[in-house]
Amino acid sequence: MIDRLYGGGELSREEYAYLIRNRGDDSARYLFSLAAKARERYYGNKIYIRGLIEFTNYCKNDCFYCGIRRSNKNADRYRLEVSEILDCCKEGFELGFRTFVLQGGEDGYFNDERLCRIVREIKRLCPGCAVTLSVGEKSRGSYQAYFDAGADRYLLRHETADVRHYEKLHPKELSAENRLRCLHDLKEIGYQVGTGFMVGSPYQTADELAMDMMFIKAFQPHMVGIGPFVPHHDTPFGNEKAGTLELTLFMLGLVRLTLPAALLPATTALGTIDPEGREKGVLAGANVVMPNLSPPSVRKKYQLYDNKICTGCESAQSVDDLRKRMSRIGYDVVVDRGDAVSISKN
Ligand code: SF4
Repeated sequence: MIDRLYGGGELSREEYAYLIRNRGDDSARYLFSLAAKARERYYGNKIYIRGLIEFTNYCKNDCFYCGIRRSNKNADRYRLEVSEILDCCKEGFELGFRTFVLQGGEDGYFNDERLCRIVREIKRLCPGCAVTLSVGEKSRGSYQAYFDAGADRYLLRHETADVRHYEKLHPKELSAENRLRCLHDLKEIGYQVGTGFMVGSPYQTADELAMDMMFIKAFQPHMVGIGPFVPHHDTPFGNEKAGTLELTLFMLGLVRLTLPAALLPATTALGTIDPEGREKGVLAGANVVMPNLSPPSVRKKYQLYDNKICTGCESAQSVDDLRKRMSRIGYDVVVDRGDAVSISKN
């Protein structure tokens, strides 16, 4: 089955579930070796970096797994000033970043007008860069406005493709249906779209993960962000078990073979559950890393889950560190917008 995927063939949902359920060291090793070949075919040994700016941890939503959900009264809330966001980008631009990811909770303070102004200013100050937004579920009109202001990409994880599972992870006012509506709107508008899911979230089995694989195969996103579920102590899932490194890496390998040209981040959550998690993610098929450009003083406050890695070091130091880490395993961190190949060839 792994060979069939590598050769461009398709798997059924049952076959994905079978592979996931019966995985072992040998099948994982084989999967990663083919995933590395598939990635090299499209991207060589390049690793793209994205400058992540977590600009607000206010959120009107109450997702059961999230440390900055509105019901968490212990969260230490912050918002960056527009000028602080722009300073982070200017600093990142000088360090070689050509993509900035603006990530935040669904915070009404950052209305369309404010967000559009920020996007326009980043594009003016950092010519040639790409702006990625990750600010949740919005109306089609809002997505269109950000796009018209210059936003290039949008990240919105679908989290789980199984509607019943979705309902177990989210309060009633959030629906899988609206999330899908958002993803389709984003694609139709012309964004490079990233979606993704948590590995090892409560109630998840191999069947749900197989549904996630079927979903990404059908949706064909440009980017897929997957990371282990890591519990946050101030949430309803505070006592649940975290997702494992081993299963997350296996899923990364499967995503790489299913969508060989996708951009796949080795996520911060991977680095959180294992000190070498990001390197292991790259060796399993990932080709993107997202160092944090947010001011060190706020990084600890953007706690979606417990023990998130947020070194106090400055951005320049973390880029240096990342270059060294990647070169040790044979990969080059490059200065590039890092578009998905189907886009950059156009
Ligand atoms: S997961 Fe996103 S939308 Fe849900 S509470 Fe957290 S920040 Fe808000």
